Amino acid sequence: MAKVVLVLYPDPVSGYPPVYARDSVPVLHGYPGGQTLPSPSSIDFTPGELVGCVSGALGLRKFLEDGGHQLVVTSDKDGPDSEFERELPDADIVISQPFWPAYLTAERIAKAPKLKLAITAGIGSDHVDLDAAIARGITVAEETYSNSISVAEHAVMQILALVRNFVPSHQWATNGGWNIADCVERAYDLEGFDVGVMAAGRIGQAVLRRLVPFDVNLHYTDTRRLPSEVEQELNVTFHPDVASLVRAVDVVSIHAPLHPQTYHLFDEKLLASMRRGSYIVNTARAEICVRDAIVAALESGQLAGYAGDVWYPQPPPADHPWRTMPNNAMTPHISGSTLSAQARYAAGTREILEDWFAGRPIREEYLIVDGGKLAGTGAASYTTGSDS
Ligand code: NAD
Repeated sequence: MAKVVLVLYPDPVSGYPPVYARDSVPVLHGYPGGQTLPSPSSIDFTPGELVGCVSGALGLRKFLEDGGHQLVVTSDKDGPDSEFERELPDADIVISQPFWPAYLTAERIAKAPKLKLAITAGIGSDHVDLDAAIARGITVAEETYSNSISVAEHAVMQILALVRNFVPSHQWATNGGWNIADCVERAYDLEGFDVGVMAAGRIGQAVLRRLVPFDVNLHYTDTRRLPSEVEQELNVTFHPDVASLVRAVDVVSIHAPLHPQTYHLFDEKLLASMRRGSYIVNTARAEICVRDAIVAALESGQLAGYAGDVWYPQPPPADHPWRTMPNNAMTPHISGSTLSAQARYAAGTREILEDWFAGRPIREEYLIVDGGKLAGTGAASYTTGSDS
């Protein structure tokens, strides 16, 4: 029997269960490209419920406890005195979400001698030290595609929010004003802009597809070039590297995983090479950008706006400069945790656990690390320290 430590974000301050805005979420039949939806034997929650917080427990409590496993659910994840760190020494499985990451550092992995499986409930396993997981033979898996469209929708929303100057205009309205000139002095149409994605994987490609009807000029870079028929269908221009991409666009949306090749890619030099008044939306990972270089570029006007939902660390301190820097449209890390997405990644987590307990292989596309090396989606999209 396994001990499972599940780290989730806290319940709503207004209490759990919440009152839901809608009675259901739409039923999907598959992901773009033909990947099938998560397929556990059953689920113990109703899609549309808030399962991503502590009381929701990803809908896993009954399944795990009926199976004789021990389940610990906590949001207390930071520092040596945290419940997470206290529970690690005899944990067999750790499940954590990127939105409220239980950072599984090399030091923490060393404190968890029984740990064999680290599941990311969602997408993006950079909060796990992948080199340490490889060295220790720990399997790392996530629910590929579970929230890709959720994030793509958020990125498109934030592009529009920045370019149309939505957030300050909304504030004028809620504050009782009617200050048209104040609202529109920074507002543009997106139509005709050059818009690029840094990485055209599942999310980046979904962003490109959603932008086609806006009559913009589309650009992308990726270490793996898209098939030429896809480039033609989307009418998108390929750039061999990020330096070429950012010089050619007015808006860049970042969709690469965080790994040694992408860490601090958007530094002062790269930002200075962009067109004055460019916009950046980053729903990938905060550390792809240099924090203070972004602040300086907004303050100088080199960047006209920055939005996204990813920060470092998470949660960020109250005085994190991205909370207050000019012309930002930041949200907390929420894009991939809509009620719709939660239903998919909770079901996917259960699928992974069912396979693991039955000794069946985990779906190839869910794997990041397996058998002491990058595997599945991890082999396609990540590098390790030794590759950099
Ligand atoms: P994916 O694996 O489908 O695509 C990643 C793409 O990045 C691949 O096409 C890969 O070739 C490309 N890439 C990797 N390194 C690169 C580099 N150095 N230069 C150019 N391209 C590079 O992943 P995805 O599902 O599209 O997700 C992308 C990332 O988005 C995740 O790794 C995660 O960090 C982030 N994400 C965020 C949220 C959120 O809630 N904000 C949710 C899901 C995923």
